[in-house]
Amino acid sequence: MHEASVADEVDQIEMDRPHVVLLGAGASRAALPDGDANGRHLPLMNDFADIVPVGEVFAAAGISHVGRNFEELYSELCTDPGYKDVRAALERVIFTYFSSLSLPSKPTLYDHLILSLRKKDVVATFNWDPFLIQAIRRNRIVQGQIPSVLFLHGNVAAGYCPRDNVHGVRGATCSRCGEPFDSSSLLYPVAAKPYDDDPAIADAWRVAKASFKSAFMVTIFGYGAPDSDVSAIDLLLNAWGGAQARPMEQFEIIDVRSEDELLKTWERFIHTHHYEVHSTAYDSWLFNHPRRSGEAYINQYLNALFIENNPIPKNTTFDELWEWFTPLVERERDAV
Ligand SMILES: [Zn+2]
Repeated sequence: MHEASVADEVDQIEMDRPHVVLLGAGASRAALPDGDANGRHLPLMNDFADIVPVGEVFAAAGISHVGRNFEELYSELCTDPGYKDVRAALERVIFTYFSSLSLPSKPTLYDHLILSLRKKDVVATFNWDPFLIQAIRRNRIVQGQIPSVLFLHGNVAAGYCPRDNVHGVRGATCSRCGEPFDSSSLLYPVAAKPYDDDPAIADAWRVAKASFKSAFMVTIFGYGAPDSDVSAIDLLLNAWGGAQARPMEQFEIIDVRSEDELLKTWERFIHTHHYEVHSTAYDSWLFNHPRRSGEAYINQYLNALFIENNPIPKNTTFDELWEWFTPLVERERDAV
């Protein structure tokens, strides 16, 4: 058996198919377990109403929210047109809360994620928080080399020009027509989400489906596939699972839940596939082969080479982190 060294891995650029990463609320919770730069915490669906300050809105509407799942609460509000104003008030509070979040000043999991993926790769997120966009803006060494970022439920930091189909940052202007971007709509947890009504979100789903179809690997990180998302997620995973038989080890789940529970969520998609489960992103294929997850895949699974891990260095300064990534990024620029 031959051995592919880390140096080989840095040098090889062979894979042109995308590594697709799908993020849910558990990813932001895992990235910032102690909260954002100002100690604001990241909610999951079951503690959402305890963390995001929606209590007053529910109280004013005479709805008891303590210990309730936000998805259920919000769905209830949608069954009665009389709650229209309550929903609008709730949505204002939610937009304000997520807009106020910011990454801590030291490198975070979001920085590691943005640095680990190449331009051919895709991050599709269900999260409303601004962390992906903030990570892209502060890791300038990968400028022009960043993955596509898709906001499947909208995002507080995203903007969009519907005339030119250009995605950007809220508050900035469109590079084609010079008009300010529209703010993103946020999709709330009800089963019949208006995916097609919002052109930015419709476009994100179109690209996501195409990406799942061509992906060599899908990493699902902290996403619980709540009931209200099931039909949408089916679209993506059917694109991924399609007619083509997928070889081994291409479906990776990063989640703190037990394997039994995860299998209940994902068994329809992985029963014919082999898969890996990791409780932390730092054990994942992606973080052990940053920017070369596809090349490592080719070596290990197609060429049957033994490959060494090349893990992301944790607990560094930004300068140390960027220095570590520079040879990988420069090699890609040379290969173009
Ligand atoms: Zn425009």
